[in-house]
Amino acid sequence: MEKIRFTIDGKAVTGSNGQTILEVALENNIDIPYLCYHPRLSKSGACRICLVRINGKMLKPSCYEQIAEGIDVVTEDADIIKLRKFILELLLSEGDHNCLYCDANGACDLQVLIKRYDVDPAEIDLGVRRDRLVDYVSSPALKRNENRCILCGRCVRACKEVQVSNVWGIAERGSHSHLVADDDMAIGESSCVKCGTCVQLCPTGALSYQTVLGRGVNWELKKESSICIYCGVGCKIDYYTNKQGLLVKALGNEDGPNKGHLCIKGRFGFDFLQNPKRLSKPLIKKDGAFVEAEWDEALDLVANRLGAIKGEHGPDSIAALSSAKCTNEENYLVQKFMRAVVGTNNVDHCARL
Ligand code: SF4
Ligand code: SF4
Ligand code: SF4
Repeated sequence: MEKIRFTIDGKAVTGSNGQTILEVALENNIDIPYLCYHPRLSKSGACRICLVRINGKMLKPSCYEQIAEGIDVVTEDADIIKLRKFILELLLSEGDHNCLYCDANGACDLQVLIKRYDVDPAEIDLGVRRDRLVDYVSSPALKRNENRCILCGRCVRACKEVQVSNVWGIAERGSHSHLVADDDMAIGESSCVKCGTCVQLCPTGALSYQTVLGRGVNWELKKESSICIYCGVGCKIDYYTNKQGLLVKALGNEDGPNKGHLCIKGRFGFDFLQNPKRLSKPLIKKDGAFVEAEWDEALDLVANRLGAIKGEHGPDSIAALSSAKCTNEENYLVQKFMRAVVGTNNVDHCARL
């Protein structure tokens, strides 16, 4: 494909036909701030934070503007900074942004830009502010506080384009515009399937998760990437633990094959890991009651019993049922063990049941 050559902040860059200025800038580690854009979603050009100057004259939203041969792009100058500050002030003036009380504090794209452009929420004239919907109870998965919503539309596009559930929409016009679930229902009573994708892609604290167990300040959380244990799709997940080591949050890994998307089980079903009733040692039934045992003792017992059953009734009297929660390698070993050691083809798997 023919390459298009142009400059961003004096640096020579190349892109392909159809790419936007922002896409090429991101590929070249050139920082242009944005709020409504997300690489996994269609473009809307709604927030105008990513305005750049082209050929010393026009200001254009870089998330929408396609590249062209020879253009000269400037990502920031005094006028652009002034405009970005003004846009941020407008966004803040319509909401209630006390970061200390917000779930997104420390993990909020808006907060990052407020600091970067030195905008003080306390100094914003709140004359136009209307109280908007706050719903922390109707859904067991999601919390919604529209006083922190900047109407970027990312949740609308996430639900439509990634989850394909089409729950969110924006109703009314101008300063009356607001988010609606289905035909203006409480999110917990709507057709939401609780995948949590809209929360992950919301750039503010307008949407947040219910399952932040034990809490923890966002910047103190430790991230570990892993694989979801619920089914054979094996989505890549980023788990977050707080200072006490408690698992508090699961986000889809944006670089994984699932591209950040998770279902309700992977996103919210992780609390069993830290349930005190979870078995962490094998149990052996002795005199009618289960007693904790060491692994060697338990494995010896299973080996002896399998050997005895096979000797008395033959290999086909034994069957193994494996699990989609295991890795491919573990499932391979189960069938290998049954065929090569026990001598039976009686192997099945919960994904087929
Ligand atoms: S949404 Fe962001 S800017 Fe607004 S209160 Fe929450 S953390 Fe602060
Ligand atoms: S949780 Fe999933 S289904 Fe529910 S509104 Fe958000 S994206 Fe849509
Ligand atoms: S809820 Fe979040 S993602 Fe949705 S429009 Fe508001 S700020 Fe944007």
